[in-house]
Amino acid sequence: MTTYDLVLANGRILDGCGNPWFWGDLAIQQGRIVEIAPTGTLQGRQTIDAAGRFVAPGFIDIHTHSDLSILVNHRAESAVRQGVTTQLIGNCGMSPAPVVEAHISEMHRQWGPISDQPEVSWDWPSFEQYLETLQGGGLGINIASLAGHGALRIAAMGLEERAPTLSELKQMKELLAEAMQAGAFGMSTGLVYPPGCYASTDEIIALCQVVSRFHGMYASHIRGERETILEAVAEAIRIGREASVPVQISHNAPKFGAPCDASANLHLVEEARAIGQDVTVDNDVHTDLAPTLTGGLPQEIQDLPANQIAALLQDPEKREAIRKEIVEDRKPAFGPVGLLKHGQWQRITMLHAPKSPEVIGKTIQVIASERGRDPFDTYFDLIIDNGHEAEAIFDYIDDTNIRLLLQHPAVMICSDGQVLAPYGFLNEPIPYQPCSYGEFPGVLERYVRDEPVLSIQEAIRKMTSFPAQRLGLRDRGVLRSAARADIVIFDLERMHDRATNLYPHTYPFENYPHQYPDGIDYVFVNGVLVVDGEGHTSALPGKVLRHRN
Ligand SMILES: [Zn+2]
Repeated sequence: MTTYDLVLANGRILDGCGNPWFWGDLAIQQGRIVEIAPTGTLQGRQTIDAAGRFVAPGFIDIHTHSDLSILVNHRAESAVRQGVTTQLIGNCGMSPAPVVEAHISEMHRQWGPISDQPEVSWDWPSFEQYLETLQGGGLGINIASLAGHGALRIAAMGLEERAPTLSELKQMKELLAEAMQAGAFGMSTGLVYPPGCYASTDEIIALCQVVSRFHGMYASHIRGERETILEAVAEAIRIGREASVPVQISHNAPKFGAPCDASANLHLVEEARAIGQDVTVDNDVHTDLAPTLTGGLPQEIQDLPANQIAALLQDPEKREAIRKEIVEDRKPAFGPVGLLKHGQWQRITMLHAPKSPEVIGKTIQVIASERGRDPFDTYFDLIIDNGHEAEAIFDYIDDTNIRLLLQHPAVMICSDGQVLAPYGFLNEPIPYQPCSYGEFPGVLERYVRDEPVLSIQEAIRKMTSFPAQRLGLRDRGVLRSAARADIVIFDLERMHDRATNLYPHTYPFENYPHQYPDGIDYVFVNGVLVVDGEGHTSALPGKVLRHRN
């Protein structure tokens, strides 16, 4: 009988492909799964007794924004403690590479305070050099990356609101080809954020033709997820068709203000698939987001220094013009702005406001009535007083849509979060990002165990083999011989997300500050134990994954 390095014994094995579990032992040797056999039949130098818990492929989070935070926290703590073993970064048009010296200030403006952290050196002009920097620091999980259209555009032309010249477009194509050669999995856009919102459909098609040469994918935060959601989904599908690239529609839940429920956007996806176009969707299950209040301002002013924004808002004429632009929403702003547009002030709850501590935990509606002031003016006043430090929880998604999306076979589960840890810079000020700490455990707890929205095998498929298939990772996201040993052992009975805070909110907020979930007991990345039941082992076995075509 062979003695393997490590055996995970007595587990209920979920293979990741959507099949019901079976009892088995699983052997790991040199970072790979080498045998799966009936319980009691495999022998290891080291054995971990799964004791009837589930053994599944490590979760693959296909939509995250850990591009810089992974440099600050190499251990990837909030991710791996959820059972995540691979993340895709570079989403929503934002990647930290390529970067050119002439436009480094725009990159700082895009990424905010983290871009000034000592770990974030910005000494990676090319995509290849950025990937080398990532690997050089060591990684708690595997990282795959997209090239962000925003980074390409900033490198070629800064944050200018116009079409690129022919030579600027040529430069963007060359930078994109370089990124694809380095191993980017495709290109992402963020068509509600600057500079993506300044780009035409044709510009994106031209760039996706480069992606197509390398057999990559196009992932998009589409041009509006509310009133314009159907046109925006249609645009993403058209880009994929005209450039011959697979399309991943990011976090595609309709936001408050959408004319329809999720079945309408999913119908467009089904139609495209029916005629042979590869279009898939991801979504996270949180109904809220906690951006800065300035994030709700028109795109061209939202990133200005706080004193400049305050000056604009203090000028009565300019204040009125800004208000009008928000309500008209002609260049569709990101999802949460629908609450401003439609006056849903009871759905905006203040989280941070260092200069106005009395407002924390109250909605804009309540603060406005206490102050005897119009809610829109109250919102602007809080920005004048607190600048970019004012943050609120925007409850802008209906749980009915979350369920519709979860149950659709073409939708995978993502967090839309980033690597965080409850200490140091990544915890200052204490972030409200339940998805970063509790996405995958939350799905298993609330939508599999407590309410049968999904079967366990279907939930695991959407967290593992399906995103692996989308990325072309043939040896991850499944439990079978020769696959990489990215594995999670979890206890569904004890599963508890300690980061999610349901609407309407109570104050003090529930599960905030966030904590790591219960029930994720062991996590292996490339065969190495990173979570051992007690916590993080400090191991950094993660790899930068490169798209190979
Ligand atoms: Zn996005």
